[in-house]
Amino acid sequence: EKVAALLGTHIAEYPDFPEPGVLFRDITPLLRDATALRTVIKHWVSMLPEDIEYIVGTEARGFVLGAPLAYELGAGFVPVRKAGKLPGNPASLRYDLEYGSAEVQIQQGALPEGARTLVVDDLLATGGTAAATVELTRTFGVELLGASFLIELEGLQGRDRLPDVPITTVWSIP
Ligand code: 5GP
Repeated sequence: EKVAALLGTHIAEYPDFPEPGVLFRDITPLLRDATALRTVIKHWVSMLPEDIEYIVGTEARGFVLGAPLAYELGAGFVPVRKAGKLPGNPASLRYDLEYGSAEVQIQQGALPEGARTLVVDDLLATGGTAAATVELTRTFGVELLGASFLIELEGLQGRDRLPDVPITTVWSIP
C-alpha cells in the first residue's frame, strides 16, 4: 500500500546505533519531506478511535508526531518527559530498563478524569517505554483508548508488555 511504501523509502536504518547490535530506525527523512509527512499523518489519523480528547506523547519523537496528530484530531497534547524537565511537582513513575532505571513524568492536572486519551510514540520496540507511559497516564483516571505507534518492531514483542491496551501501528516490521 502507498503509505507502507512511503515509510519504506523514508525511514533510514543505521546498524550499531546508538550501541553495537542495535539497528536504529531513523524517522528524520520522513519528517523533512513535506508531502510524505502530511500523507502519513493523515493516514494515521484515519486509523485512530473516535472522539479523542488528549494525545499523550513521549519525549522526544512522540512530541514531533503526537502534536500534528492532536492538531488534526482537534485534541489536546500532553507531553510525557524524562524526570526533571516539567515544572510544578509533576506525577512520576520510575521503571526498570535492561541496565538501571528511568523516570517519566506528566504535569499535575494535565489530564482530567475520564478524558478519552491515546498514547503515541514513534516506535514500539520492547514496550518498556510504552508500558511506563500507559501506567503513568492511567494514574490520572482517564479513559485510555489505546496506544499508537508509527513503527512496530514485531520481533521484540512489545505488545506483550501492554496486554490490556488496544494497539494500532502504521507500519509493522516483522
Ligand atoms: P522500547 O521501550 O519499546 O524498547 O523502546 C521504544 C522507545 O525507544 C521509543 O520511545 C522510541 O522512540 C525509542 N526507540 C527505540 N528504538 C528505536 C529506533 O530504532 N528508532 C527510533 N526512532 N526510536 C527508537
